[in-house]
Amino acid sequence: MYKIRVMKKDRHNLSKSKLVADIPLACSDELAAVEFFEKQRWGSNPCCVKCGSVEVYKMADAKTGERNGRYLWRCRDCKEQYTVRIGTGYEESRLPLKHWVYAFWRGCTSKKGVSALEISRHCQISYKSALFLMNRIRFAMAPDLPTAAPLAGIVEVDETYVGGKPRYKGYNKRGRGTKKTPVFAAVERGGSIRRHVVADVTGKTLKAAIRRVVDPRARIMTDENNAYNGIAKEFAGGHDSVHHTAKEYARGDVNTNTAESSFAIVKRGIIGTYHNVSREYLHRYLWQFDFVWNSRKLNDGERTVLAVKSAEDKRLTYKAAPNHA
Ligand SMILES: [Zn+2]
Repeated sequence: MYKIRVMKKDRHNLSKSKLVADIPLACSDELAAVEFFEKQRWGSNPCCVKCGSVEVYKMADAKTGERNGRYLWRCRDCKEQYTVRIGTGYEESRLPLKHWVYAFWRGCTSKKGVSALEISRHCQISYKSALFLMNRIRFAMAPDLPTAAPLAGIVEVDETYVGGKPRYKGYNKRGRGTKKTPVFAAVERGGSIRRHVVADVTGKTLKAAIRRVVDPRARIMTDENNAYNGIAKEFAGGHDSVHHTAKEYARGDVNTNTAESSFAIVKRGIIGTYHNVSREYLHRYLWQFDFVWNSRKLNDGERTVLAVKSAEDKRLTYKAAPNHA
């Protein structure tokens, strides 16, 4: 649960049901959206983005006395004027914040994912703008691998092919000679999942993928694919496999059912929602599917807030990250 620890700390400040009720309003009303982001960013202690002073106030419109149309704040100490967007990933976007809330909300609450085309239609914004939103949001959902806890206990490992149409129909079940992309999954039973695109499905590649995300004390479970042969000696819990070809789907607690059903969700989403995703971009969609899976114990509002906070944490790394565009 790579980000959930952050949530637990904040959870006491949130009224769960209120959060779920607030977000849909923030999707349709710009002031509510601005206040939603202000609350996530500053809580009940707004401060100056330039000097950090708490001597700040919301600017009001001289005629009406209502909140300034640009939602400006002003600092009494350094005299700076700013909005909640300054210093965040929303700064370089001119889109109303209500569209950002909507895209976060949909991205966090649909199991099969949400397409940029849908966001474009619902918010009546250009496809290009919607894609910009969704790419930022998916990046916010990406696991922070260097700090993420490795998968432990019983870890199911499996690989599959996603997307594309086989070039030679029925030619090769494993996908050789097709446009399909190999995807690896490791899932801690009862815990988190890591799915990512791999270059191929050789033993060398798959074993390296396991080492990258699994704790050496874990017990590994796979199917009979002999690419996994020899992994037992690297993990204290050993390696068990089920033999699907011999019609064996489980033996005692040995099975890869969780990993397999996790692929089924991805495939349904990729076909049903996105109608296909090229190899080049598949990893972004896997971030989103992993994020929703790994935060499944949170309610929709909490999951949306978690994504919003992750976006804030990652705003500086977006441009440096590979394959983000
Ligand atoms: Zn200031």
